[in-house]
Amino acid sequence: MIMTALRNAEPAPRLVDGFGRDITYLRLSVTDRCDFRCVYCMAEDMQFLPRSAVLSIEEMERLAGVFVSLGIRKIRLTGGEPLVRKGLPELVERLGRLPGLETLAMTTNGARLAPVAQRLRAAGLSQLNISIDSLDAARFHELTRTGVLTDVQAGIAAAVAAGFPRIRLNSVILRGRNEDEVPALVAYAASLGVDLAFIEEMPLGVISEHDRGLAHVSGQELLTMVAAQHVLLPESSQEVGGPARYHRLQGSNTRVGVITPHSQNFCASCNRIRLTAEGRLLLCLGHEHSLDLREPLRAGASDAELAALITATMMRKPERHEFALAGEPQIVRFMNMTGG
Ligand code: SAM
Ligand code: SF4
Repeated sequence: MIMTALRNAEPAPRLVDGFGRDITYLRLSVTDRCDFRCVYCMAEDMQFLPRSAVLSIEEMERLAGVFVSLGIRKIRLTGGEPLVRKGLPELVERLGRLPGLETLAMTTNGARLAPVAQRLRAAGLSQLNISIDSLDAARFHELTRTGVLTDVQAGIAAAVAAGFPRIRLNSVILRGRNEDEVPALVAYAASLGVDLAFIEEMPLGVISEHDRGLAHVSGQELLTMVAAQHVLLPESSQEVGGPARYHRLQGSNTRVGVITPHSQNFCASCNRIRLTAEGRLLLCLGHEHSLDLREPLRAGASDAELAALITATMMRKPERHEFALAGEPQIVRFMNMTGG
């Protein structure tokens, strides 16, 4: 009895960086591959990692377990496109059983979601972000280079039907390409009763399609467009450490957020780290600081040894990122390598 009370009183594990920030959120990239080639994310002709370089499902589960034992409470599966990764539903099932993990989330392009939405929900996935940048089939195809709008809409409908507690649509808005769709995207999200986040384009990777300085539409501009048609009620409780600022549409459950890496820096409350598909732990989206975990993992390191490496490297997490508006990207990895 006393032992139980003592055990219950044990403080939860905490992973803390050199600036005193609690690191509780891991974004886990399960593949760098994708069935789309979105113009802001990938080049048309991409070189992907050889399969042997990518962590296996078992390796991902093992590392996720170490992170959770250290204090990670939320994992988001991302990529590349998580749903092109073989074994993804099994990975969700395994992670869903990790004691101490409070939230399991995924970001997807939605194209392959419809057949697996129920299974993922049943396995413990609770939050889904689904990307959709246009509601016009031809334009959607242009922006994604390969995507079929109706597949994604079927995925979104299946997610709603599966009863995920939180679904958010993500739209990257580019000037002159889809900024005119802001009102339609808001109406679409409201009709489904799901949230919507507009994302400013980030300068990751070298792309030839458009000039990023010209394409950039600021979060404030986006909110002004939405406010022209809706009464926006600011939400007081923002996602802890999250970059999105939300407003609720009056008369609706839908919240509209803007994610503004350019115009508003959210580093002070950053609680996140990223693990790439090849097992590289990235400490900040805007810096190259990283720790290779695949090598020690494959060399037979114990959980305790992996945990010690991770804890020590947290001291190197940078205080903030800087993204300039125009010019060359400061970071040469593409978003599919970084994991959104
Ligand atoms: N394939 C999945 C998807 O598209 O949702 C998950 C990975 S994707 C890299 C994650 C998110 O990053 C998507 O919402 C996508 O629109 C966004 N994204 C990709 N490249 C971006 C960029 N350069 N700037 C801003 N957002 C970007
Ligand atoms: Fe694929 Fe997502 Fe990148 Fe589009 S944004 S190319 S769907 S990884």
